Amino acid sequence: MNDAQTDSLTRLLASLPDLLPTLETTYKDVHAHPELSMQETRTAGIAAKHLADNGYEVTTGVGKTGVVGLLRNGDGPTVMLRADMDALPVQEATGLDYASTVSATDPTGKTVPVAHACGHDMHVAWLMGASALFARTRDAWRGTLIVLFQPGEETAQGARAMIDDGLVTRFPKPDVVLGQHVMVGPAGTVAGSAGPITSAADSLQIRLFGRGAHGSMPQASIDPVVMAASVVLRLQTIVSREVAATEAAVVTVGVLQAGTKENVIPDEALIKLNVRTFDEGVRKRVLAAITRIVNAEAEASGAPRPPEITSLDSYPLNVNDKASSDRIAEAFRAHFSAERVHHTGPAPASEDFGCFGTEWHAPSVFWFVGGTDPALYAKAKADGRLNELPVNHSPKFAPVLHPTLATGVEAMVAAALAWNAAR
Ligand SMILES: [Zn+2]
Ligand SMILES: [Zn+2]
Repeated sequence: MNDAQTDSLTRLLASLPDLLPTLETTYKDVHAHPELSMQETRTAGIAAKHLADNGYEVTTGVGKTGVVGLLRNGDGPTVMLRADMDALPVQEATGLDYASTVSATDPTGKTVPVAHACGHDMHVAWLMGASALFARTRDAWRGTLIVLFQPGEETAQGARAMIDDGLVTRFPKPDVVLGQHVMVGPAGTVAGSAGPITSAADSLQIRLFGRGAHGSMPQASIDPVVMAASVVLRLQTIVSREVAATEAAVVTVGVLQAGTKENVIPDEALIKLNVRTFDEGVRKRVLAAITRIVNAEAEASGAPRPPEITSLDSYPLNVNDKASSDRIAEAFRAHFSAERVHHTGPAPASEDFGCFGTEWHAPSVFWFVGGTDPALYAKAKADGRLNELPVNHSPKFAPVLHPTLATGVEAMVAAALAWNAAR
C-alpha cells in the first residue's frame, strides 16, 4: 500500500468504533433468527434496508432472496464484495444468550431446527459494516462498489440462482470479486493464499437394489446390506490406492441406510457420499472410480438391476487469482502487520463463491478470518488438540464477537481499497 492508500484506509476505518455496537446488535439479531437456504427473506430485508439507508441503489429478489447494492463514486475500478446469508438445519448447542431456538420447514416438508452454525451471520454483519464505511467516507475513495448478499450457499443453489436471474447482465462487471469466511483460527487474524482455496465438492446418492427375503432364508435373497457394506469398504481404496501421494481427495460416506427389522432382509440400500478434490483431473478420476466400484459390487452380488447414482449437489473448485491475491496479502500485511496474516493452503471446505468470478470472467479472491478465542486456540495448539475445537457446521460453532467482527470489516475495506483508488 502506498501512503495515499494508507491514509484512505485510516479515514475509512475512523468511524468503525462508533459503528461496532450497531453491528453487534445486528449480528446477534441475525444469529437468533437464522433462515434456511433460499428462505432468507428476513435477513435479506435487513440487508436491503441497511443499503438503502446508506444511499446504495438497491435491487432485491435477485435469485429469489439475493440483494445487490450499487454505490457509484466517480471514475475508478468496480469492486464486488460478497456475503452469504443462509443458516443450517442444526440444533444450536452454544449456550449463548442469543442462541437460536428457531425451527423451519425444509424443502422436503420436515420441521428442522435452524442455526447459524457456519457463521454466515458474521459475513452479513461484516458486509453491512464495510458497506456503511464506504458510504460514509466517500471522499476517501473512488470507483464503484457492488455489495452482494447471496442466498443458499449451503445447498450450492444461491450463486447459481443469482446468475440465472441475470446478475452479470443487470449489474456492472467487477474488476475483482472479493469474499471472506469465518473459520477456526485465532480471532484477529486473516489467512489465505493464491491458487485453489476451497475444494470442489460433489455429493452423490446411490440406491443399491437387491431382493428382500426372510432373515432366516438368506439363500432366497440378494442382500443389499452386504452389498452396501462392500461398497463402503471398497470406496475407501479410491483415495488410498488410486490417488497419488502428491494429490489430495476426500471420499466420505455420510449416510448408510437399509432395512427396518432384524429378521427381514430388505430389498434396497441407500448410500449418500461426499467427495472433495482440488484438481479437475483428480475430481473426474475419483467420480469415475465411484461409478465403477458401485456398478461392479452390484454385479458381484448378482443385483437384479443396476444401482441408481444421482448427483445431490456440486460445488466448483474455488481458485484465487495470483496477482489479485498477492495484492490483497500486501494490503493485509500493511494494515494488520505480518503476524496477523497467515498463509493457509486450500481448505477441504467448499463454496459456490467461485461461480461469480467464473461467470463474469473476473479475478476473484476468497480468504479466511479467524473466529476462535486466541487464548483457547493457543492452548489447543500447545496440547495438540486443535482438531477438538468446534468447527463450522458443529452445533457448538460460535465465533467470538471481538475482535472477529472488527477484523472482518477491516479486511474487507482494506482489500477493496487495494483496487478502489485512494483519494
Ligand atoms: Zn457451511
Ligand atoms: Zn459457510
